[in-house]
Amino acid sequence: MNLPNLKQARLRTTKKVEYLAAANLKSTKYTNKKYYIRTYGCQMNVHDSEEIKGILENLGFIPTTDLEQADIVILNTCSIRENAHDKVFGFLGRLKHLKKNNPNLIICVGGCMPQTDSVANLLKTKYPFVNIVFGTHNINDLGKMILKEDQKQQIEVYSIEGNVYEHMDYVRDSKISAWVNIMYGCDKFCTYCIVPYTRGKQRSRKMEDILEEVTSLKKAGYLEITLLGQNVNAYGKDLDFGYNFATLLENVAKTGIKRIRFVTSHPWDFTDKMIDVIAKYENIMPYIHLPLQSGSSRLLKLMGRRYTKEEYIALYNKIKAHIPNVSITTDIIVGFPNETNEDFEETLEVVNKCKFDGAFTFIYSPREGTPAALIKDTLSKKTKIDRLHQLNELINSYSLAHNQAYLGKTEEVLVLGPSEKGSNKVYGYTKTMKLVNIDGAGEDIGKLILVTITAAKSFSLDGKKVIFTKN
Ligand code: SF4
Repeated sequence: MNLPNLKQARLRTTKKVEYLAAANLKSTKYTNKKYYIRTYGCQMNVHDSEEIKGILENLGFIPTTDLEQADIVILNTCSIRENAHDKVFGFLGRLKHLKKNNPNLIICVGGCMPQTDSVANLLKTKYPFVNIVFGTHNINDLGKMILKEDQKQQIEVYSIEGNVYEHMDYVRDSKISAWVNIMYGCDKFCTYCIVPYTRGKQRSRKMEDILEEVTSLKKAGYLEITLLGQNVNAYGKDLDFGYNFATLLENVAKTGIKRIRFVTSHPWDFTDKMIDVIAKYENIMPYIHLPLQSGSSRLLKLMGRRYTKEEYIALYNKIKAHIPNVSITTDIIVGFPNETNEDFEETLEVVNKCKFDGAFTFIYSPREGTPAALIKDTLSKKTKIDRLHQLNELINSYSLAHNQAYLGKTEEVLVLGPSEKGSNKVYGYTKTMKLVNIDGAGEDIGKLILVTITAAKSFSLDGKKVIFTKN
């Protein structure tokens, strides 16, 4: 991808103290001013927003959920699909209107979208009311950019991956379950995917820094952590320290934190050692998200996925055989350019063989700058939509069957918050990542409780807390 307007990146690893000294963020200019942040896209962006909130609160800003009250608005954007772009540009129209009534409003657009040159140029030419534009590689510059803010548009986006920052102040969304980034970027270059271009080459954090973060989260009372990366099981391949994801996972398990999860795994990097470690430690949850993308080996090759249908099924069966009660979910793309009926039938065949617990399914969306976007596509939109519906129906039938198998069983659930299903309900997840809505009160939030499953639907379970009585 050609990024002529974007700067080249700089250092490799920076500690918070060095960063704070360089950033010189001492100012009271924004004390008690209000920030509003809107996050689009994946868990990586959600966690990046926790870092952005930390930067803003270090500057004195306080959060608001009322857009009209905000002194600064940050849009942390996503590039993965066309409709994510459309949503951001739609929201910018609303902000333009808001700025007419409040000319001092600071508008910032950051994250994946500005990492492409067309969006950076578009923001420059068509959206001059946006004050600050930053990318995924220089989130840490946001504080400095805000302090420099003088109503002239600042665009600072780096084309190559930037520093790995340690010991940053995160304002985490949850006090129970935390994201822990173990790596940044991705080297896989699947032909349809924009991530290697927007998030750069793979950079793993050092294991000691990750373990230190997990240990401090445990001390702070967190019961669950999710190790986060675009391709977690490639962890360490860019480091010369002789350790890999299985080593990291084992060491994280030894910290004794109650629940460990990880996303996302690429089938190509999934080792036997990883399977052994997951099976060995009770605090590593028996849940794996293993993107299939297509059941056709022909399409998998065109997608640059590095495995065949047969290899995927063999890995799936090996995981199922070695990890007791494991649940496996997947991602599937429908309508990759020129997907034939036979290709699609093969995808259905793999779904019928694997009987996934659940799947995120998508219609292929061409991303500018990726090799797949250059393939001339003759498939009609209607065919793609019909195939998506057919696939979803099949997936949902297996999800429901899996969930029905929980009926009457007692499961350990980590309760995360009030449920949307009623004022007298809370929600949480089983070890296998099944969403459970539980009759009960707020006093269970933040606890691991035992729940008897009373109803099963395609996407969730209902349950009742087990009350222990003394005889
Ligand atoms: S492994 Fe995932 S993040 Fe990396 S290029 Fe492929 S789809 Fe994108």
